[in-house]
Amino acid sequence: MLIVDLEKCIGCGECESACTFDAIEVKDEKAVVDLDTCTMCGTCVDVCPEEALYLEKEEAQDSGVDLDQWRGVWVTAEYRFGQTAPVTFELLGKGRTIADDLGVKLTAVLMGSGVKEHAPELIQRGADRVLVVDHPELENFRDEVFANILAGLARKEKPEVILAGATAMGRSYIPQVATRLETGLTADCTELTVRAEDRALLQTRPAFGGNLLATIVCPSHRPQMSTVRPHVLKALEPDSSRQGEIVEVTPSDDELTARVKVVESVVEQSEGPGLADSEIVVAAGRGMENEKNMELIHELASLLEAGVGASRAVTDAEWLPHRAQIGQTGVTISPKLYMGFGISGAIQHVVGIQGSEIIVAVNKDPDAPIFDLATFGIVGDVKKILPLFIKRIRQERGL
Ligand SMILES: Cc1cc2nc3c(=O)[nH]c(=O)nc-3n(C[C@H](O)[C@H](O)[C@H](O)COP(=O)(O)OP(=O)(O)OC[C@H]3O[C@@H](n4cnc5c(N)ncnc54)[C@H](O)[C@@H]3O)c2cc1C
Repeated sequence: MLIVDLEKCIGCGECESACTFDAIEVKDEKAVVDLDTCTMCGTCVDVCPEEALYLEKEEAQDSGVDLDQWRGVWVTAEYRFGQTAPVTFELLGKGRTIADDLGVKLTAVLMGSGVKEHAPELIQRGADRVLVVDHPELENFRDEVFANILAGLARKEKPEVILAGATAMGRSYIPQVATRLETGLTADCTELTVRAEDRALLQTRPAFGGNLLATIVCPSHRPQMSTVRPHVLKALEPDSSRQGEIVEVTPSDDELTARVKVVESVVEQSEGPGLADSEIVVAAGRGMENEKNMELIHELASLLEAGVGASRAVTDAEWLPHRAQIGQTGVTISPKLYMGFGISGAIQHVVGIQGSEIIVAVNKDPDAPIFDLATFGIVGDVKKILPLFIKRIRQERGL
């Protein structure tokens, strides 16, 4: 609950101005909080010059769960159409750090049909142990069946953390697992760390429309469950010298029973790598000013064999299709090189590009927030800078 220390409050109104939810009003020279509207975001606490505001933590209710019985970190491996999805390796990279911090084993759970031979690569990417559930009934993904099996294994083995990809697959069955285990789930995390004193998983994700980064804990239930989008975390390089244990598990008939029957599975054909898989991304923002200027973006992208991305301002203006949108409500990318032209660097865009190795930003405003993140920043007009890039690349290549 947000508390106002009336002795310290001087009624300056800083908190009232800072509150984006209109939850504070200064009356008779004292701040008054509307507790129904207050979201406990803490912005007012940060701006109060007299430190007259503070958030009182509510004690975690005793859930009756013996937290000490839950140990170990699990990563759910995603296997589709003959391959392990790259997000699995990214989750194993972070899972390795979390398991080491907690002093426990990292287990990968691999479910599917004909998947057994892929277990060793999960060990090479950081797992100590792989639970393999290989069964012909798992040929086609059915959320209910996958949820049955994962929840059953978790009930038996009691891991304290389960990480999964925020993919179409993960999003469809992981919430069911959380519900069955009567625990919480934090979706679309952008960072995961361990609080050493109580082994809590600190799960950070954008909140309130991306205006804040919230760190969420699951204090009294286990396992602590999080999903992370592809390309947010970094995978470890495969290490063929790593040794681990592979345990085969047979699912029960009950677990394999579902209401859904898969009639047909069709693989969508697409041309070239998707935006999320491009090693170089050239992205356009509102600063491109009009659709005609977008030709410069396409020309540079074509020279660099890059994917073309955009801020929401550009996709809303229909200069590019929605699938080009990068960010919170678009694609998350982690290319070797991201080049942003006329993009301000709003948090909703930044969450989609922060995994990029090198960020080049061009903006005419030296105070644009994108420069806080950029590896290289150029203050200037995109209409002048883009032709210079294009000319130089053409010269270098003798075109
Ligand atoms: C719930 C929610 C979800 C959202 N999801 C996303 C998302 O997924 N992705 C996303 O991108 N946004 C998202 N947004 C929108 C986001 O808040 C910003 O409005 C958007 O990213 C701004 O796009 P922009 O940087 O292109 O435009 P602006 O913020 O208008 O910035 C334009 C920039 O161009 C510069 N500029 C102008 N002219 C020139 C020039 N000639 N040369 C050089 N620089 C120039 C300006 O200085 C300015 O910095 C979301 C918003 C909400 C509320």
